[in-house]
Amino acid sequence: MRPAGIPAPTALFRRQVDYHGTGRARALGRQGRRLHPNPVRTPTMIPVIYHPRYDITAFGLERLHPFDGRKYRRIHDALIARGLRSRSDFVRPAPVGPDELRRVHTPEYLRSLRDPRILAGILEMPLLGRLPFWFVDWRVLLPMRSCTGGTILACRLALDHGIAINLGGGYHHAAAACGDGFCVYADTPLAAATLYHEGRIKTVLVVDLDANQGNGTAAIFQSWPWASILDVYEDDLYPLAKQPEDFPIPVPAGLTGVEYLEIVREALPHALETVRPDLVIYNAGSDPYVDDPLTRLCLSKTDLAERDLLVATLTRERKVPMAMVLSGGYSRESWRIHADGIEAILTRFDRA
Ligand SMILES: [Zn+2]
Repeated sequence: MRPAGIPAPTALFRRQVDYHGTGRARALGRQGRRLHPNPVRTPTMIPVIYHPRYDITAFGLERLHPFDGRKYRRIHDALIARGLRSRSDFVRPAPVGPDELRRVHTPEYLRSLRDPRILAGILEMPLLGRLPFWFVDWRVLLPMRSCTGGTILACRLALDHGIAINLGGGYHHAAAACGDGFCVYADTPLAAATLYHEGRIKTVLVVDLDANQGNGTAAIFQSWPWASILDVYEDDLYPLAKQPEDFPIPVPAGLTGVEYLEIVREALPHALETVRPDLVIYNAGSDPYVDDPLTRLCLSKTDLAERDLLVATLTRERKVPMAMVLSGGYSRESWRIHADGIEAILTRFDRA
């Protein structure tokens, strides 16, 4: 249940405004509107980051892709309907800016996104290649830059609150010089690099439990000795050419929830003790679900909620801050799976 509302101390609010690292100018939007006016109401309330701009809608064109572009709002609405958060509790991020993107992405790649054919290839929607750039930027890329800003904010807030959850992001197929698999911006490496260069973290561990290998994140991390990745993925899925990783755990199609959870229960403590990270970024894909049309793992909704709670519990037990992002999931139930997992975490840790 929702903790009793206690107004946030002014100092906490001020810190949040500064979480974007640019002070008041960035905290106020173009029209002087506050971009993230919602302080976390109590220091013990897990920050949940969301912006109405997250949803990808392009007058029906988005239905050409199996990804549910409206799942972010559905999760947001479910958390409210379940009494876990009120509308004003969500923390709104600013979209990531061009300078921040260049921390990880090459200028050539960022420029190439203006080519509709390249963008249509990354987004797996050939029809988008026929639309003007401004339209695709407005309806698809801006939502993704907002989600990426959300991942950076979630990592900042995780360092202060122990846990923070972004209701988006997890574009783990995006690399420094190319995007793929519906992933344009490498939000997780961008967030890690931002905090690393600010001196707020010295090591990071990404825990990638999406059904596909996080090949983009892994490729970026190869030249970052301070960044590691533990990745449980279905071996026979895209990407067929896998990237080297610190803790790769390829698993076969047909793996059950019991077997999967056992693997996480053994592998995550080992990775945490080996890396001793200052921050865990949890890529909580919902596509290991048994009815996901693009994968063949056999986890139930209950198994997936248990998995999310397990990751949160194992990191909290070791006092490692954890930022959770959503990543892939293509079943109609994807939003419900995320809502269930987040409910489990909020119920257990909001007051802990
Ligand atoms: Zn996936």
